[in-house]
Amino acid sequence: MKIQVAISSCLLGEEVRYNGGHKRSRYIESVLSEYFSFTPICPEVGIGMGTPRPPIHLITTSGNNEEGIEAAQVDDHSKRFTQQLKDYAKQQADQIKDVRGYIFMQKSPSCGYTKVKLYHENGNPLDTAQGIYAAEIERLLPLIPKEEAGRLSDPMLRENFITRVMAYNDWKENVEADLSKKALMDFHTRHKYLLMAHHIPSYQNLGRLMADLKAKPLQQIADEYIMEFMSAIKHVANRKKNTNVLQHLQGYVKQHLTSQERQEMTNVIHQYRQGIIPLVAPLTLLNHHIQKHTEQDGYLLQQKYLNPHPYELGLRNAI
Ligand code: SF4
Repeated sequence: MKIQVAISSCLLGEEVRYNGGHKRSRYIESVLSEYFSFTPICPEVGIGMGTPRPPIHLITTSGNNEEGIEAAQVDDHSKRFTQQLKDYAKQQADQIKDVRGYIFMQKSPSCGYTKVKLYHENGNPLDTAQGIYAAEIERLLPLIPKEEAGRLSDPMLRENFITRVMAYNDWKENVEADLSKKALMDFHTRHKYLLMAHHIPSYQNLGRLMADLKAKPLQQIADEYIMEFMSAIKHVANRKKNTNVLQHLQGYVKQHLTSQERQEMTNVIHQYRQGIIPLVAPLTLLNHHIQKHTEQDGYLLQQKYLNPHPYELGLRNAI
């Protein structure tokens, strides 16, 4: 079963841009589509702007205070589309509340998720902001992992986004669909090292939250848990944090290894830490030892950190 992900329509090659063109992404179309099934959305066409149409941009009369940001026609600022885009986001949020991710087109005054150009009313560049529609979707559906197509060409951000989509899908399928203490605890257990690799303070906070499941109503604990979890794994797992987790995992298997194998493991982790080899190298060796020596230990084998996304995507070959 493919995972459902919402996407700006133009990224799938639909000719919905203001100039009648598209922004087809080869990576999305030929690689991600093997795993994701897409729900295309074009908010500008959705509010009836037509194609082609005069371009719009973000303007403000009150600094970059979000309240004062408006989407206006570039050559006629009296034509504003802000409220229509916000209303359309509300309508769509209801339709897509169960998607596991959202890929936005960058730089768009409607769909841009980060750093869209923001202008003074007089047309001078001022700052950057989120597109009107994307900001509203973020406010209404804060848990859904979101990223811009342009940023997916960065290997770290790409790996991070797909990790978040997979983890959120796991939550929706295995915890939210049938909430129980066991489902929540199992989710936490299999994501422990993933959490540690992304954000140690949240790893500690969520460990404390899980320590007393009678302290509050279970739904409240689950809501608090997933809010902090999704925000924690937005932090990129860098070489330093990954090295820390690799060393923890190495501690579990080292008693089973010969001194030569121990030295080899230590060297490979060190080379990864130095930036000489990618993350896939120490993980492949570690996975090999875990499967060979600790097959009885379900705790290690179930760790999502070892295999957070399809191996064929090769996401850890480039980080
Ligand atoms: S960026 Fe968004 S609003 Fe613009 S054409 Fe693409 S889907 Fe439509």
